[in-house]
Amino acid sequence: MNRDPDCIFCKIVAGEVPSFKLFEDDATLAFMDINPANEGHALVIPKEHATDLYAVSDAVLARTAATAKKVAGALARTLAPDGLNLVQCNGPAAAQSVMHFHVHVLPRVKDDRLAMNWGLKLGDIDAIGRLAERIRVWI
Ligand code: AMP
Ligand code: ZN
Repeated sequence: MNRDPDCIFCKIVAGEVPSFKLFEDDATLAFMDINPANEGHALVIPKEHATDLYAVSDAVLARTAATAKKVAGALARTLAPDGLNLVQCNGPAAAQSVMHFHVHVLPRVKDDRLAMNWGLKLGDIDAIGRLAERIRVWI
């Protein structure tokens, strides 16, 4: 499997960096974002390293989308958000900070005024871990 030794998400896939995993299969991994833009913010990645949308294969993209749908359903059951976005960023102007293809699964609260380039702010790690346990029940 294609891997970049300097990539933080490849390290998460390999278990070299800890994460709050929600789901994994042979091709994809879902885990909590540690800088949540909103409560329940999760990420879905292919296990294989691909930089961005241009680089990911159609087959892996489809698998990633399927996992994102699974996670979205679990988030909906756990948090009953007012809405939910799938967001995917390519390149610095689009606020891509990790160069390993990923999809944000982002619960929304009515009038949360979340902007597209929302910025990174470390969340409450213990609370994120507890929430991950509640979401996993629904996957
Ligand atoms: P993007 O800005 O679209 O590249 O999103 C990258 C996301 O990865 C950001 O929302 C970060 O908060 C998140 N992130 C970076 N490092 C980690 C990590 N070690 N564990 C969980 N999420 C991370
Ligand atoms: Zn990677």
